[in-house]
Amino acid sequence: MSVTQQLLELKSTLPPHVTLVAVSKTKPLALLQEAYAAGQRDFGENYVQELTEKQPLMPEDTRWHFIGHLQSNKVKYIAPFVYLIHGIDSLKLLQEVNKQALKNNRIIDVMLQLHIAQEETKFGFDFDECRHLLCSDVLNSLTGVRVRGFMAMASNTDDQAIVRKEFASVKAFSNEMCQRRDGLDILSYGMSGDYALAIEEGSTMVRVGSLIFGEREYASK
Ligand SMILES: *Cc1c(COP(=O)(O)O)cnc(C)c1O
Repeated sequence: MSVTQQLLELKSTLPPHVTLVAVSKTKPLALLQEAYAAGQRDFGENYVQELTEKQPLMPEDTRWHFIGHLQSNKVKYIAPFVYLIHGIDSLKLLQEVNKQALKNNRIIDVMLQLHIAQEETKFGFDFDECRHLLCSDVLNSLTGVRVRGFMAMASNTDDQAIVRKEFASVKAFSNEMCQRRDGLDILSYGMSGDYALAIEEGSTMVRVGSLIFGEREYASK
């Protein structure tokens, strides 16, 4: 099936309150353009260099989501245009995004990444760290960023019960935090393999790549 067909079929299954981020990392511009022509506006990229190469070549109203692990020293390259940064996993990174946002006269929307998977390798805050950050005064001083919610990745397992439980834990944490803080209105979890489950467990933003664009080939990345 073509990108257009995959995209439209996927979109037809998503409830209206769920935003689809088309994850286009490693994919050629032509495929992004095809998705754009089919109406897609939200695109997710993982690598700063790839994103800064693609951004000027796509229409201006493309909404660029940075979904990868972001290094503080690279924030400046995406700060002028990025729409939403999903993977904030330290106060230091949040402070740098704030600094670069103010430099660009912007307020940048961000998501705090929660570590819910069993694997050690996935980035993110644990619930206690995240709660601490959200309740601290330092956040209120960062006027260049707006925390919109939480992003997470489930364990890499075929056991759906584990995945479901992990997603549900994010939803429960979000409910708790929403009582203390305004503006937490996005939950970003669910990928090609588990987006339907994620939506059942409260996700409002799914990040889907291979199901739309086909499997990725990893040569060097
Ligand atoms: C690559 C990636 C995705 C998309 O993964 P698929 O399995 O291809 O849908 C989603 N989120 C993050 C953070 C990713 O790195």
